[in-house]
Amino acid sequence: MANVSWDFTPLSSEQELIKREIGRICDEFDAEYWREHDKNKEYPHEFADLLAEHGWLGALIPEEYGGGGMTTAEMVVMMEEIAASGGGFGATQAIHGAIYTTRPIVEHASEELKEEILPKLARGELTIQSLGLTEPNAGSESTAIETKAEKDGDEYVVNGQKIWTSRLDVSDFLLLVARTKPKSEVDKKTEGISMLLVDVEDAKSQGALEMKSIDKTSTNLSSAFEVWLEDLRVPAENLIGEEHNGFYNLLDGLNDERLVIAAECIGHSKLAIDRAVGYADEREVFDRRIGSNQSIQHPLAEAYMRTLAAKQTVYATAEMMEDLERQQVGILANSSNYIASEIACDAADAAVQTFGGFGIAREYDVERLLRDARLAKIAPISQQLALNYVGEKALGLPRSF
Ligand SMILES: Cc1cc2nc3c(=O)[nH]c(=O)nc-3n(C[C@H](O)[C@H](O)[C@H](O)COP(=O)(O)OP(=O)(O)OC[C@H]3O[C@@H](n4cnc5c(N)ncnc54)[C@H](O)[C@@H]3O)c2cc1C
Repeated sequence: MANVSWDFTPLSSEQELIKREIGRICDEFDAEYWREHDKNKEYPHEFADLLAEHGWLGALIPEEYGGGGMTTAEMVVMMEEIAASGGGFGATQAIHGAIYTTRPIVEHASEELKEEILPKLARGELTIQSLGLTEPNAGSESTAIETKAEKDGDEYVVNGQKIWTSRLDVSDFLLLVARTKPKSEVDKKTEGISMLLVDVEDAKSQGALEMKSIDKTSTNLSSAFEVWLEDLRVPAENLIGEEHNGFYNLLDGLNDERLVIAAECIGHSKLAIDRAVGYADEREVFDRRIGSNQSIQHPLAEAYMRTLAAKQTVYATAEMMEDLERQQVGILANSSNYIASEIACDAADAAVQTFGGFGIAREYDVERLLRDARLAKIAPISQQLALNYVGEKALGLPRSF
């Protein structure tokens, strides 16, 4: 077993406790569990249920509603630990939505709705795993969405199509983003957009929601869907945030989320490096361990150094959040997300090379780590869009998105 030194970052007693408790839960799921679920494209229900049972899926829900009331500095520890424990980015992505989609509800739903659903979400009796923003013609340019929600008495009537809606098969609710005013009628393309909380069972029983799983090769632990909505009726009280102002409401908190995704990538890199070092230290070719060759050792050492450096930025940013301006957090969070996903991918690639032919055998897991890390450079935000943001906001160059 590899003996890589990782623990340099000082943790508060609360962070230590989170690391220990999450580690205890993760210990119940071995490498074979993740491997088999990936191979069979099966959702890790047992893992998600155990987290829910211990209240971890309600991490962001304030304590007054029965949640964990956790800060970003605590969330980075939790998600890094899950990824590093063996599940990697695929495991964190399987439960990330259940935690982070509660946030717009906490921050923008009516008090009545919050009192009705937050305690149930905190206890894990209900989950809200899915966000429906992306459409076939609106990915990076999310304000190009065309799905319409039109007011009819005390309901909205929704028509349109979504794509890449993750985990809709395991979610009680879908947080749907739709246009309540056509783009042609607003001054700024970010206006006229609203968020609605859709009860998935109700939508299906209306015959208003159809979904089809997308056959994909990365993060197989959770499914993503094409979704068709036809004359879907949603009660007006399920509006989350202000009507027409939903895009801004959705953006609130997105930076914190990006930072946590960076922590997931760091945990993923640690896992890839641990696995590769373990193999490099054992496998003998030409009568010596392959780890004694610099062409094997150096890419792993480099991935290790970059992982340590990125972790410092992520943890320091998480600590400073409250004292920074929104744009400063945006620059640091996008930079962290960009760099950490780059490192996760490079670390997994170095691990595959270390394993030689076994690098692509499922049995050794590193091929899965490479497939999953590749997605981190595309979604939820692509590397180019992160660079565009930093190019404009930090370098002062013209906006290009
Ligand atoms: C597995 C998976 C799960 C997902 N889950 C969800 C989900 O749950 N909910 C949801 O709403 N969405 C989800 N998404 C969608 C995801 O957010 C989008 O895929 C992502 O935003 C990119 O959009 P796109 O795929 O349409 O690419 P496009 O927008 O078509 O872009 C294609 C390429 O062009 C580049 N590009 C575009 N414009 C520019 C520019 N101005 N400058 C430089 N480069 C540019 C992009 O970076 C990208 O490389 C998921 C996607 C995947 C793959």
